[in-house]
Amino acid sequence: MTQASLWRTALANFEQAAELLAPEVSPAALDRLRQPRERIELTLSPQLTDGVPHVFRAFIVRHSDALGPAKGGIRMTGSVTLDDVTGLAMEMTWKCALIGVPFGGGKAGIVADPRRFSATDNEVLLRSFAHNATRHIGPQVYVPAPDMGTTEAGMGYIKDTLSFAAGLATTQGCFVTGKPVILGGIPGRREATGRGVAVTAAEALRERGMAVEGATVILQGFGNVGSYAASIMASMGMRVLGVADVLGAVWKADGLDVAALVAHAGRTGSVVGFDKGEAVDAAELLTRPCDVLVPAAAGNQLTVDNAPAIQAKIIAEGANGPTTPEADAILEERGILVVPDILCNAGGVFVSYLEFTQETQQEQMTEAEVRRRLTRRMTERYAAVRDLARQRGLSMRRAAMLKAVGTVCEALTARGNLP
Ligand code: NAD
Repeated sequence: MTQASLWRTALANFEQAAELLAPEVSPAALDRLRQPRERIELTLSPQLTDGVPHVFRAFIVRHSDALGPAKGGIRMTGSVTLDDVTGLAMEMTWKCALIGVPFGGGKAGIVADPRRFSATDNEVLLRSFAHNATRHIGPQVYVPAPDMGTTEAGMGYIKDTLSFAAGLATTQGCFVTGKPVILGGIPGRREATGRGVAVTAAEALRERGMAVEGATVILQGFGNVGSYAASIMASMGMRVLGVADVLGAVWKADGLDVAALVAHAGRTGSVVGFDKGEAVDAAELLTRPCDVLVPAAAGNQLTVDNAPAIQAKIIAEGANGPTTPEADAILEERGILVVPDILCNAGGVFVSYLEFTQETQQEQMTEAEVRRRLTRRMTERYAAVRDLARQRGLSMRRAAMLKAVGTVCEALTARGNLP
């Protein structure tokens, strides 16, 4: 079950919401949302610095554009599949609806392990993707952003490739978010997902009557989401006891020095070898006692195998689809409060929306304004989901899905009978 695709996880979550919504919405709208609107497969053949053309597969999935252009990141890993990208695109539909931005759900995948390539080859690969995907990217179609294995710099190369193809200095409108500020990005986007995770985790602690100050945290994943979540949680007074990444894990019983760990991981590419902590087993780390567990890495990490052993009181899902449906049922049964991914990690897409509007309107927003709007929106949406969960006696995940799927069905109905 640990190898379950993210499509299976997304569909299982959808079916639970569909069952609750069935009495109120048209079966046709639910049927429409059960499948993606479009799945595109691309073959890239960039010439890398070794002088030899290589062949890579890539995917773009638009799950729904009922609320607006498809929005979602580009995942670049050696193991990403079309099914995973489809599941992630579906989750983006719900996330955008839940956080209240006028976007549909999309996602892209490039089957390549970025750790195997030099910075130059990474740039060539992303430019090849942008070149081959030109027809499928745009402010009315699909607007990408960074996800696992892609970065802010990569979004800059994509913008440049698309501008260059049009023979222009820039794109007309926002074609990609999460790009460098100097190229029209927005201050605060880089940390936005992690900040949203920290804000919702703090809300969950308050809901459980626990203090934010001194709350203990374990994280899996120390990339964009995990490292910013850890830093911001530490700045709120929480104590980060353990961090795992793909290569190993570190632990310190009275709290890691997060700033030093960020600097170490920045230098070495991993948390492994951090001398102000003890090396521990990455899988076992997830089951150690803590107040908040933050999965911020790959999907399907919390499974039937480890869910019964988890000792966290709250799980804040920084990653997309980190919990299998079976594990979710176990955690619910055990009374662990799960802040679901479509709420917990929606800070990134909310700030992407601010970037989109900034670029469309040729304005400039300050970092303070971005932070204020992000914190307010995450807190409001957390409260709305919590209230619905209490009212209907549902888990936070079911309440979030009910709200999100209901909103998209409303948009589909308002659009009428399209061809
Ligand atoms: P990233 O590539 O910056 O970092 C990924 C981290 O996860 C790395 O530290 C890596 O070592 C670790 N990792 C990967 N596989 C692992 C495994 N099997 N066990 C332990 N650690 C592992 O990626 P990111 O952008 O931080 O994304 C992380 C997760 O958050 C993904 O699920 C992504 O879809 C989700 N997410 C990202 C954003 C965003 O704005 N970047 C927004 C919403 C959701």
